[in-house]
Amino acid sequence: MNDIGFVGGVDPVLAPDLCNGCGLCVELCKEGAIALGEDSLPRKDPSKCLYCGDCILLCPTEAWEVGREGYTAYVGGKVGRHHQLATKFAEFVSPEQGADLVGRVLEFTIAKGKKGERLGSVLNRTGVAALHDYLAVAT
Ligand code: SF4
Ligand code: SF4
Repeated sequence: MNDIGFVGGVDPVLAPDLCNGCGLCVELCKEGAIALGEDSLPRKDPSKCLYCGDCILLCPTEAWEVGREGYTAYVGGKVGRHHQLATKFAEFVSPEQGADLVGRVLEFTIAKGKKGERLGSVLNRTGVAALHDYLAVAT
């Protein structure tokens, strides 16, 4: 909802030896990101997973384990007369990378923005790819 924001996340990784095939995680995943395979083991669809970690918390045998952890970074959201949701920019960002990202996004906004222009409007003009390009050059 704002120029830059972060949402914590964790990537579940299955320990097949601990899974009893109960299917509870399939029922509980609100994104429909888990399905049981023919071998009765759950499979995660990365395109649907939001990294909420519910399957890790709720598996009765602790078969879903903690994989990558970090923050998903969103850019370009704004409220007001012409509101818009932010766009996902990066996943599994560490706190240190996040702090660095805030500074670099601010640099980009100053370099590419017109007077008084919010980041979301800048990105609407330039495309999010321009921010990726800017950070790649700046690194
Ligand atoms: S809830 Fe746990 S034990 Fe049950 S199918 Fe999912 S991973 Fe396996
Ligand atoms: S982390 Fe959340 S969204 Fe991803 S598979 Fe587990 S319950 Fe579903």
